[in-house]
Amino acid sequence: MKWWEKEPLRIIEIFDCFDLKRLSPEEIARAVKKLGGNSQHFHCMQHSTKIYGSGLDDRSLYFNTSAGSVQNPDRLTEYIPYAKKYKIKIIVYFNVHWFTIDFGKRHPDWVQIKQDGQPMDNVYGTGTSFCINSPYREWVFQILKDLCKYEINGIFYDGPIFFSNTCYCNTCQKLFRDKTGENLPQKSDRNHPLWKNFIEFQAESMEKFLEESNNIIKGINPELLFYMNGNSNWPYWPTGRDNHRIIKHTDILGAEGGFIYGDLNQTPIFKPAIAGKLLSSQANNKPTVIFDCADHKPWSWYVLPEAEISLLLCETCFSGSNYWFAVCPDDINQPEMKAISRFGNFIKKYPDAFYKTESLSNVALVWPTKSAESYTGSSVPRTDFTSIIEGEEIGNLHMEFDGFYEALSRIYIPFDVIDENNFDFLDRYKLIVLPNTACLSLNDCEKIKKFVFSGGNIVGSFETSLYDEAGKIREDFGLSDVMGIQFNGNIFGKMEYDYVSPVKNIKSRYLKDIKKILFPAPDYGISVKTTTGNTEIFFCKRMKGRYDGIPEVSNDPMMVVNKYGKGTSIYLAGSFGKTIANFRFIEYFTILKNICDWLSSQYVFVEDNKNVEIFLRKKGDSIFLYLINMTNGLKRPIKFLQTLYNVKLKLKETKPVRLFALKSETYLKHKKTRDGIEFVVPELNNFEIIKILTGGEK
Ligand SMILES: [Zn+2]
Repeated sequence: MKWWEKEPLRIIEIFDCFDLKRLSPEEIARAVKKLGGNSQHFHCMQHSTKIYGSGLDDRSLYFNTSAGSVQNPDRLTEYIPYAKKYKIKIIVYFNVHWFTIDFGKRHPDWVQIKQDGQPMDNVYGTGTSFCINSPYREWVFQILKDLCKYEINGIFYDGPIFFSNTCYCNTCQKLFRDKTGENLPQKSDRNHPLWKNFIEFQAESMEKFLEESNNIIKGINPELLFYMNGNSNWPYWPTGRDNHRIIKHTDILGAEGGFIYGDLNQTPIFKPAIAGKLLSSQANNKPTVIFDCADHKPWSWYVLPEAEISLLLCETCFSGSNYWFAVCPDDINQPEMKAISRFGNFIKKYPDAFYKTESLSNVALVWPTKSAESYTGSSVPRTDFTSIIEGEEIGNLHMEFDGFYEALSRIYIPFDVIDENNFDFLDRYKLIVLPNTACLSLNDCEKIKKFVFSGGNIVGSFETSLYDEAGKIREDFGLSDVMGIQFNGNIFGKMEYDYVSPVKNIKSRYLKDIKKILFPAPDYGISVKTTTGNTEIFFCKRMKGRYDGIPEVSNDPMMVVNKYGKGTSIYLAGSFGKTIANFRFIEYFTILKNICDWLSSQYVFVEDNKNVEIFLRKKGDSIFLYLINMTNGLKRPIKFLQTLYNVKLKLKETKPVRLFALKSETYLKHKKTRDGIEFVVPELNNFEIIKILTGGEK
């Protein structure tokens, strides 16, 4: 077993790369240890010096390498004894995407070229970037060879990347012409017939670069960890970073899930767990790591409140992932750092809850990767590598996904996040949620049909399966027979004051507790006719103004229930998830809760609507129930969490021997019920993990 699989990774990065003299080697090692780290991203390349400018320069390498044009003191040799003393694994941080303009001027053939023919000159506003297809790659490979001579434990690539308007360098032009016989199309022209080829060419270039890098590293020392920062629930067309290709040639899959920016009220609190769950489903059973940052971005020298840091860590780790936590060297003694050191030391004490656990979810929420690449509602979020590129408002994928994510969390459903690559393993779930999963291949549709036919259940919204994998609209839904509907030819909206109405006098398990005759419609609807499906909610006729008389029920179905084989499909003919994300109407949550109650076997019940997020995983004979306290102030950044007392929980289908609360270090009493157990957590501060022993293990 490799070292990075033997225990949970607690990677700390003290980003002293802007001033390598900021802390002494011993101070760094001590800080990593104090923050609970067992490994670190180590800096021996200086960025942004007054003399050379912003970014990495070949005169700023502080280790022995023939790739440097100046010989600087060897910081790596100096540091290694301290890493050993404090038992920290060294993963060398290697920035491969951000260089000084001057370095670029000395190697014009390495520089990434923009669509307008100009060199890339505004990375983080101030630097340039090199192209992994150009001869620059040899410079990188030389550094790998030189680094691998040291007693280090791994190498992390920050980058590599293409940008949303690159790369048109000579090498890329030549390689693309050799491959296709054509010139590179404009990357901004997404309808160009060669656009998709261009995107795949970049993703393949990335894969080859990683493969060669990994071969060099493992050829020298197979015990060295190698990884880079990949994608979360974003499209890969701007960057070339396709996780399914990346993980073939790297040892762990990572992405920025815990970098949070600007107005935090616009950021789902679940962001790190979204990344953690998605990456876990993409990593081919390799470990995953979520990149968390202690700073309130883009203010990289301003630390978040302790409660926010604690939430980042819980969301990251309870999703089954490890963390890499970045801390500014000037902040290592700030009081907020207690959240990191406490959590790291807690993991050290109870590692079993944090690695090689398996999800116990029987519900999966799909992140539609094919739609993310090809659908008009797909957007590119702000990350350290991309600026915001807004998709069409209609069918906005992120909002649709985030709404379902939030609703499932709020109704205490343990669930996984998967993508189309997991469709061969759908039978491990009872319910698959397809949030506007517009672009699906025929093969994907076949797998879903088979799943439902043999007893699985689905919920699909809006344009799910109406497009093929290339983003071309079909005449009818690919899943029309499963969903019991036909496409009627149009989308309607925007609806700002319109309604839907449940069918009167029907006994429906999915409408339980819905008392309203009218409740707000989603902002966009899609016109469908039922075939074998039964409509349980209709849209009302569109109103000309918000006081345009009393709303009347139309013939447009909004919720259609269909039996298909042994399974059930619930189709929602509108932007259901987006409406949850925007407005949080109670009925939307109730409907989803009813669906989950009937179509999955809900496992955990939290009484009194306590504001708690849950995760459920297992390892051997133990089940781990993770609880995050979400009871906080109204606005982010969250400064405190209100302690919850006497949180009553029920678990179905569980026959435990003993229950132990890891954080409060107490055994909990439980009562047997007809179909499981119930118990009380006396006090919930930030979080708790209940270890439920079901076998003979102590
Ligand atoms: Zn290029």
